[in-house]
Amino acid sequence: MLDYVSDKVQDEKRQGEPFAPFSNDPNTYKKQFYIESYGCQMNFADSEIVASILNKEGFGATRNLEDADLVFINTCSIREKAEQTVRKRLTEFRKLKERKKGMLVGVLGCMAERLKSKFLEEEKLVDIVVGPDAYRSLPGLVSEAEGGQKAVNVLLSRDETYADISPVRLDSNGVSAFVSIMRGCNNMCSFCVVPFTRGRERSRDAASIIDECKELFKLGYREVTLLGQNVDSYHYIVDNPQLVNGKTKSPIANPQSSISFAMLLEMVAQISPLLRVRFSTSHPKDITDDVLYTMARYDNICNYIHLPVQSGSNRVLQLMNRTYTREWYMAKVNRIREIIPDCGISSDVIAGFCTEEETDHQDTLQVMEYSRYDFSYMFFYSERPGTLAQRRYKDDIPDDIKKRRLQEIVTLQNRLSLESNQQDIGKIFKVLVEGDSKKNNAEWKGRNSQNKVIVFPKWNYTIQKGDYVNVKVTDCTQATLLGEIIN
Ligand code: SAM
Ligand code: SF4
Repeated sequence: MLDYVSDKVQDEKRQGEPFAPFSNDPNTYKKQFYIESYGCQMNFADSEIVASILNKEGFGATRNLEDADLVFINTCSIREKAEQTVRKRLTEFRKLKERKKGMLVGVLGCMAERLKSKFLEEEKLVDIVVGPDAYRSLPGLVSEAEGGQKAVNVLLSRDETYADISPVRLDSNGVSAFVSIMRGCNNMCSFCVVPFTRGRERSRDAASIIDECKELFKLGYREVTLLGQNVDSYHYIVDNPQLVNGKTKSPIANPQSSISFAMLLEMVAQISPLLRVRFSTSHPKDITDDVLYTMARYDNICNYIHLPVQSGSNRVLQLMNRTYTREWYMAKVNRIREIIPDCGISSDVIAGFCTEEETDHQDTLQVMEYSRYDFSYMFFYSERPGTLAQRRYKDDIPDDIKKRRLQEIVTLQNRLSLESNQQDIGKIFKVLVEGDSKKNNAEWKGRNSQNKVIVFPKWNYTIQKGDYVNVKVTDCTQATLLGEIIN
C-alpha cells in the first residue's frame, strides 16, 4: 500500500505501545487488562483515562498480553493504513483467544466509533466496542460481555471531557506527560474523519487541568503538553470563578469571563518556572497574537509550534476547507518569527489530495521552503469513508504520482531539517534531560525549547533525568543535535 512510505516518515515509535503497569503496585486485582494504543497523542492520553477507569473497578494493568483477561486495542481511523494495522493485530489476538477461553477483546477509539456494531459482524472475535466518549461505561460493558453478550457503546457526547478522571500514566519517561484540554473538533477539513469519530469540540474545566498539571509537577514531571485537535480554540466558561481564581491566581480580571487558550497557557506556566509547557495542535486560523505574546512572556512556555499547512496551493486549501490561503499562512509564519524569533515550527503535509496538479504540488514545496520547517509529518492522501472529500471529490491522483510527490516533499523536508540543525551548531540551549540516549547509556538525551532532540555525553556530572542543563551544540545529523554540557 502507498501509505507505507508515509508511515516510514511519520514518527511511529509509540504505535502499538502496550500500557505499562505501576512498577510496585501493592494491590491485588480481580482481573488483568492489557491495552495497546495506535494513532495520535490523544489516543495515548485516552488509554491513560481508560486505565484509570478500569483500575478503580478492580482491574490491574499488565504489559504481558498472555496474562490478560481483557485485551483492549485503542484504534485510529485517520488513514486506511492505520485501520489495516489494527485489523492485522486483531488476527493475532484471535490466535490467543482460541487458546485462552474467557478472554475478552475490546476495540476502543476512532475505529470503534466509525464502524460501530458493524465491527462485531466483521471481526467475530471482538466482544466489546467503545467509542471515545463512552469510556465511563466500560466496566458495565465488561460485565455484559462476561455474561456472554456483545457490548457496544459508541454514543458521542457534547460535554464529556473526563475532567474529573486523573489518568494513570503510561510508562512515560517520568519527565514529560500529556494533558488533554479539549475533545472533538468543529473544523470540517474535508479530508478528515476526526469530526465524525470524536464528535463536537468541547473544552475541559480549566481548574481540573491546572490541578492535573500541579499534581504532575509534584510527582517530578517537568514538562506537560496540552493536547487537543485544535488547542487554540480552547474556550472554557468559568462555572465557579472562585475555584479557578482561588486555586490558580488566575490572570482573569473579570471572574465572569471565559478562559481562552492564552489564559490557560499562562495559568499552567505560572505553576512553576521549572515546569515546561508545550501544546499541540494549532490550527493556523486560530492561533492568536495573544497566544504568541504569552509564549514570548514566559521562559517555560516552549518556543515551538506545530502549525499544519496540509497544502501550499490556494485552490487545494479551499477544497480541503482549511479556511486560510497560502498568503495568510505565510503571514502567520512571519508573525510567529516576529514575536518569537527563535520559535521552532513544524507541519503536517498531505500529498496528492483530490485534483492536485503539478503546480499545486510546487506551491506546497514553496510554502515549505518559505516556512523553513524544522520537522514535518508527511502523508499520502488516503480517502476516508463519510468525509466531505469522499462525498464530493474523486480520489483521482494515481498512486505512483502521490508516491513521487510525497517523496519530493520528504526530500525537501530532510534538507530543511538538516539546514535548521546546522544553524544551531555553536549555540547553547537549556535542555531538559529525559533519560539515557537510546544508542549509548554513557550519553543523555533531552530536548531544547524548540523541541529538538539533543544527545550529549554524561561525563562526570551528577545529573538526573528531569534536570535542566546548558548544552552547547557541536555537531548534528538531520534528526538530532549533538552537544556537550557547559557549566
Ligand atoms: N487536528 C490536527 C490538525 O488539524 O493538524 C491533527 C489532525 S490529524 C490526527 C493529523 C494529520 O493527519 C493531519 O494534520 C493531516 O495532515 C493528516 N490526515 C488527516 N486526514 C488524512 C487523510 N485522509 N489522508 C492523509 N492524511 C490525513
Ligand atoms: Fe481533522 Fe481539521 Fe479537525 Fe485537524 S482541524 S482534526 S485536520 S478536521
